[in-house]
Amino acid sequence: MSNSYDVVVIGAGPAGYVAAIRAAQLGLSTACIEKWVDQAGKTSLGGTCLNVGCIPSKALLDSSQKYLETRNDLAIHGIKVEGIAFDVSAMLDRKNKIVSQLTGGISGLFKANGVTLLPGTGMLKAGKKVVITSADGSSEEVSAGNVIIAAGSVPVDIPSAPVDGDLIIDSTGALELTEVPPRLGVIGAGVIGLELGSVWNRLGAEVVVLEALEEFLPAVDQQIAKDAAKTFKKQGLDIRLGTRVTGTEKSDGKVIVTYSNRDGEHQETFDKLVVAVGRKPQSSDLLAADCGVNLDERGFIFVNDFCETEVAGVYAVGDVVRGPMLAHKGSEEGVMVAERIAGKKAQLNYECIPSVVYTHPEIAWVGNTEQELKSDGVNYKSGVFPFAASGRAMAANDTGGMVKILADVETDRILGCHVIGPSAADLAQQAVIAMEFGASTEDLALTVFGHPTLSEAVHEAALAVDGHAIHIANRKPRGK
Ligand code: FAD
Ligand code: NAD
Repeated sequence: MSNSYDVVVIGAGPAGYVAAIRAAQLGLSTACIEKWVDQAGKTSLGGTCLNVGCIPSKALLDSSQKYLETRNDLAIHGIKVEGIAFDVSAMLDRKNKIVSQLTGGISGLFKANGVTLLPGTGMLKAGKKVVITSADGSSEEVSAGNVIIAAGSVPVDIPSAPVDGDLIIDSTGALELTEVPPRLGVIGAGVIGLELGSVWNRLGAEVVVLEALEEFLPAVDQQIAKDAAKTFKKQGLDIRLGTRVTGTEKSDGKVIVTYSNRDGEHQETFDKLVVAVGRKPQSSDLLAADCGVNLDERGFIFVNDFCETEVAGVYAVGDVVRGPMLAHKGSEEGVMVAERIAGKKAQLNYECIPSVVYTHPEIAWVGNTEQELKSDGVNYKSGVFPFAASGRAMAANDTGGMVKILADVETDRILGCHVIGPSAADLAQQAVIAMEFGASTEDLALTVFGHPTLSEAVHEAALAVDGHAIHIANRKPRGK
């Protein structure tokens, strides 16, 4: 059987499903190929994000945070709670329900928008033809006016700690633990290590995080990263920087990790070990030798700023191409490509993509860090407002952290915003909008913010840039 579509999308993660829906909305006949099957053998849409990524991890982060607050933070409000217990299987059930509701929701959106779902594994051939191989081994070929590759990414593995799905697990395994491990080892103090390490630490596991780099969260503004390191330490996350895991050994249902650091070689025994050392593009079984699409030196599909590959009419978006591996980055690339295929002049501002680490406190940022501006020799100024001075944060008993805004000395244009603290993601998003509109700190300063809100910290940080914050003593402005 041979079918023809205006657009064929390979992969129904946040990059692919969004591209497919937008293409269909624009009147293009659209099919989306997806190979993911759930435990019942049914095709599951939403990719890593919905099945084993953003959504299930946030479900566990919220459940575990509620438990921690109930245990530690209610007494100050005058709430007395006794006999607190935690039911891991109820937490996992809730998470699984959210996942099936959302993945099912994408199927509904496909139907509502007229996207044809083609279950199976897609492989791009020459001439914009795609072969789809089903689980039963049968195959069909479809031809496309345009192909959008959105095959996503998979966890990186390291030879010194091979994942066995039992004692040594990846992020997916860390979302499925049926009981709290007394001692949990995590390799990698990146986003996954910190988020999932926090979940199990809040539930009572002793968590040790082994990180190869000497610097903690190097991509984060270092003032914020230092604040985060201090807070995580207080929370009981034992983060050991500058460590190199050289081997693992399983014995008596435990895993013994050997690692070296500047003090020599050490061993630690864990009940479970999570390997969270990054993700790599999923480009195997995807590209036939004659398809003409090339990979870069790191295995990402090579694309330009408009996500065009070297083959006309073939695009790639999301984790399978360069740039941060973030759901929203892939989704916006998907929209851009669908709109360009439909003849619109869409583009994506890669300077304005927010990042968030959903720990507590949350860490969120957009734009340049102070260390980047220094190393680029930019004449910048900065304003910081601590949540300790925010009435709303005090009312919520959540006063750790700060908002920091960086701006150009000459133009006053906002260059970066960095937040650690309550609702950091939502506060940094305000700066994303401001930056997208090319705002200056004066624009933010002249904006009226509701009182009492956490957002006032953004206002005050903008005021602090030029030394006229109201609710803190101002430092002498930098860069003047
Ligand atoms: P994916 O989501 O990986 O989807 C790719 C899809 O393509 C998959 O469904 C796959 O089965 C399918 N596919 C691949 N090859 C083929 C083929 N040949 N044929 C058919 N189908 C194919 N990002 C955030 O922005 N915020 C977060 O909070 C966040 N939390 C995360 C937590 C965890 C634990 C993990 C692992 C990731 C998290 N991420 C988060 C990252 C986010 O999940 C990814 O950036 C995002 O899912 C990438 O979207 P994508 O569509 O490019 O790829
Ligand atoms: P990451 O790149 O964030 O962190 C990996 C960490 O492991 C780094 O600090 C790295 O230095 C360290 N590392 C690498 N090799 C090591 C080794 N051999 N020994 C010890 N440490 C080692 O990757 P991740 O945490 O695995 O997450 C993967 C991707 O998923 C990220 O790109 C991230 O963008 C995305 N993600 C995003 C969110 C979010 O947006 N909140 C959450 C989870 C994952």
